[in-house]
Amino acid sequence: MNNVFYNINPEILKSGEKAMQIIKPYLDIIDDITEHNQLKMLKAFQKAKVSENCFAASTGYGYGDKGREVLDKVFAEVFDTEDALVRHNFASGTHTLTVALFGVLRPGDTMISVTGLPYDTLQGVIGIGEEKSSGSLKEFGIKYEQLDLLENGEVDFEGMKKAIRPDTKMVYVQRSRGYSLRPTLKADDIKKISEIAHNIAPNCIVMLDNCYGEFVEKTAPGSFVDLMAGSLIKNPGGGIAPTGGYIAGRKELVEMCSYRLTTPGTGKEIGCTLGNSRELFMGAFNAPHVTGEALKTAIFTSALFELMGYEVTPTYNEVRGDIIQAILLGNEERLVRFCRGVQAASPIDSFVTPEPWDMPGYDSKVIMAAGAFTLGSSIELSADAPIREPYAVWMQGSLNFHTGRLAAMLSASNIFDEN
Ligand SMILES: *Cc1c(COP(=O)(O)O)cnc(C)c1O
Repeated sequence: MNNVFYNINPEILKSGEKAMQIIKPYLDIIDDITEHNQLKMLKAFQKAKVSENCFAASTGYGYGDKGREVLDKVFAEVFDTEDALVRHNFASGTHTLTVALFGVLRPGDTMISVTGLPYDTLQGVIGIGEEKSSGSLKEFGIKYEQLDLLENGEVDFEGMKKAIRPDTKMVYVQRSRGYSLRPTLKADDIKKISEIAHNIAPNCIVMLDNCYGEFVEKTAPGSFVDLMAGSLIKNPGGGIAPTGGYIAGRKELVEMCSYRLTTPGTGKEIGCTLGNSRELFMGAFNAPHVTGEALKTAIFTSALFELMGYEVTPTYNEVRGDIIQAILLGNEERLVRFCRGVQAASPIDSFVTPEPWDMPGYDSKVIMAAGAFTLGSSIELSADAPIREPYAVWMQGSLNFHTGRLAAMLSASNIFDEN
């Protein structure tokens, strides 16, 4: 990289070159994973016989919408599941996970989270810490138990053997670290959880919050979990899907979820696509590649900031289970400078200056950087940092490595110039 278009501190340019050399073998590993998943995706398109008439816009009830049915087949194929429910009607990742939970759980059932406290937005859905009536699972008589992660952030596999009982209905797993510093689960960890759970409770549903984990590894966890869900404005939408989510898993469970999304009886048979199918297909097709670009961006950023002396997690040479990179910058000033660098490298709203603000639901100020084509998209490059100990910034995404790398360099430059 040079300074033809952007002004990067010469010291950072040098560190950037060094980082590129160090990470070369790890970028090659990403290319290998990306190629595997990209060819798997192409094969899935061909097997499902995607054709131009799949892009036709249906209206009203959407009976017999071919694109909708074929897209479900494509997702089931790449995720190694029996069936899938891929819809633009899912308003967010949380909505998608909520439909899955309400779809398969019944009053009196117990769900156990074995990866500690679930992602913030899911807590209200489950009814954790609930004070007023909100229609949570708890209000519908679904019991929640939690097995915390071990001190080192690993799953408590031994503890699982005590916590899970033969009548446990659901074992809930969150793959991504979310906004914590714990390690992300890899496919192998999820497989082990599933084996332990099914050993004790053969009929239990192992349900995976797969957000940010799609196409990061060659192994899709679909062959060993019962149900999983994620957002289309993260990895599997490829930066092209304008909204939506997916649920994938065992056929009978996906069907139950479809009854919750629409109505008992109509399930997957209705729901018009309004012309969204083309973008959902195109996004899915690009998703393995775009996920690879996001991973390369994360690896480069990790290496660059490690060279600058900051603690990073994961490190550039760690095996990754999601696209998130955390950097411990140590003070507010650097968090602000980092986020401003990311913003300045965005295609949209590059001219705005992120400021820390009191975001509802947070106990400290938060600063965010995002300049995306799709509002809230986090497969596009974005960064968030709560202004509190340990003064870490979490960043994820980038539709391409070139501009993702620029963002890391501008952020690093901003921080370097402070001194
Ligand atoms: C993003 C995310 C969600 C929720 O998705 P939203 O689209 O923000 O509602 C749930 N779990 C994890 C781990 C996530 O990363």
